[in-house]
Amino acid sequence: MILLNGKELSDKLYQSLNEIKDKMRYKLIILTIGNDEASKVYVRNKIKSCEKVGISCQHILLNESISEHEFELYIKNLIKTHFENSIRFDNGGIILQLPAPKHLVETFNKIIPPCFDVDGFGNLNKEYLMTNKKPYHYPATPKGVMTLLENYNIPIEGKHVVIIGRSDIVGKPLAQMMLNKNATVTICHSKTENLETITKTADILISAIGKPKFINETHIKDNVTIVDVGINRTENGLCGDVDFENVKDKCYAITPVPGGVGPMTVYSLIENTMQICH
Ligand code: NAD
Repeated sequence: MILLNGKELSDKLYQSLNEIKDKMRYKLIILTIGNDEASKVYVRNKIKSCEKVGISCQHILLNESISEHEFELYIKNLIKTHFENSIRFDNGGIILQLPAPKHLVETFNKIIPPCFDVDGFGNLNKEYLMTNKKPYHYPATPKGVMTLLENYNIPIEGKHVVIIGRSDIVGKPLAQMMLNKNATVTICHSKTENLETITKTADILISAIGKPKFINETHIKDNVTIVDVGINRTENGLCGDVDFENVKDKCYAITPVPGGVGPMTVYSLIENTMQICH
């Protein structure tokens, strides 16, 4: 069984980012709204990763009471001062850490210019992806999954990829990216009937549902590649959607949790931030 080690791969890729680093000065601005505990951990990880490659990172905490209009002006002003009129930073972007109030997420996605939308969730980047125009930035988690599979030489073309979960940030964009690589794609979700019958036909099974150890040997065929996107906090610590110990001997390759997709997601965000597109 091949362990798709996202921690090890991302460490290697950060090194190569450092080696090719040009003379540009990069900045990542992370906005959080409200006080979600899990977000604090994710933000800390993103700040640490910026430090690894010399990206300047600023974390801004906004009050939940901010109106849509104030929020819109705030973001436009951030872009102007940090990038457009800046003599200190040449490149980078702004992300809104989720979860955030729905109406503000919608505002952000509507107004963020695609080249500063380094999370790739903005409406324009989403539209480009779904209509087969090249987005300025691909969303970090799906991009991380693709990079992981590519680096471990897992074939995608012609394979049946089953994705469980249809969120806007993982399932849907990942399905499109897999289609672009000529996979045959099935998306399953909470209303899917006979889930096991479908997942058993997967050459590559990707789970992004947020249910601890939900996937076991009854869901898979021999020699499947499993990508476990799920991050679940349980009494016994972090675990994925997949019962790793139960399935590992049946798999061709599998990602661990932690140490699989998580580090690849953060790496992809950093790569996006350093990607010149304007
Ligand atoms: P979400 O929480 O918005 O939605 C969950 C999806 O799972 C829905 O589409 C739902 O239909 C489906 N689902 C729920 N129960 C199901 C069931 N019993 N059978 C089939 N489908 C079911 O999704 P999300 O935001 O994409 O997050 C999913 C998981 O991935 C969470 O655990 C989240 O923490 C994790 N996540 C991890 C990373 C990472 O970097 N590793 C990034 C994003 C999300």
